[in-house]
Amino acid sequence: MEIIEKIEDMRNKSRALREANETIGFVPTMGYLHEGHLSLIRMAKNECSKVVMSIFVNPIQFGPGEDFERYPRDFERDCRISEKEGVDYIFHPSSQEMYGEDYLTFVEVEKLSGIMCGAARPGHFKGVCTVVLKLFNIVNPHVAYFGEKDYQQLVIIKKMVKDLNLPLLVKSGPTVREKDGLAMSSRNKYLSREERKNATVIYTCLNLVQELIYKGERDLSKIKKEVLDRLKENESVSKIDYFDFRDPESLDEIEMIGKHGRILAATAVWIGSTRLIDNKIIEF
Ligand code: AMP
Repeated sequence: MEIIEKIEDMRNKSRALREANETIGFVPTMGYLHEGHLSLIRMAKNECSKVVMSIFVNPIQFGPGEDFERYPRDFERDCRISEKEGVDYIFHPSSQEMYGEDYLTFVEVEKLSGIMCGAARPGHFKGVCTVVLKLFNIVNPHVAYFGEKDYQQLVIIKKMVKDLNLPLLVKSGPTVREKDGLAMSSRNKYLSREERKNATVIYTCLNLVQELIYKGERDLSKIKKEVLDRLKENESVSKIDYFDFRDPESLDEIEMIGKHGRILAATAVWIGSTRLIDNKIIEF
């Protein structure tokens, strides 16, 4: 496994791989790897002849007062894990390498960036899209892999790729969960023992939505009330940014279940001082 820190070196490597007829699978991450990341690496290993993973905690997707500085980092551990998984190249640039001192250009997918997590974290998806487009330009992959855990991010990136005619395929992998249902996330590390135990309420609520729909409830405002009540009575839940029902493709809000055969239930909940997101697609 090779670690590449410079944009020019990554570009040269990617060009050489393409000239050698390799297919490049790309897994962008912020590091502090867990099974969720590894599931994407394994998909890429299965489908492509070379796998590039980036590890870059992207400063411009964090708002003021968010957790950029304290975001968990352990590059050496990440390298050991990646090597074992068969990653071929880790692209690990510095912020200086990516943005320099005079950075001015940003990409925004309108509308979709202003709802759900975008409403709670203004500028977040602009930062995500900008870094992902830069990484796509640098790594030039055939296929890029994203997790369904960050469902809104996945929809936004697919839209950016379509709208800007980017020459690559975006594929997604299902959310990997802990045994008790909590979606794996680097941020779970922030949780105290008590909070970690209580954080399962998020998955419980997503399952409750499915249960109520399967029982025949069609009024999503009633389901939402029940779910919000359940969340609020949990002593570790300090804030609910949103709990939304949306069309899984367009992310348009859905109020009543009618013609929709699939519905996205998505939420962002603060457990103590940690913001966690999760979602579930309910098919009926
Ligand atoms: P991150 O390092 O959190 O930016 O995540 C890097 C990639 O891993 C993104 O495409 C995420 O959606 C994906 N990912 C993070 N957590 C999970 C999970 N629990 N299951 C599946 N994919 C995940």
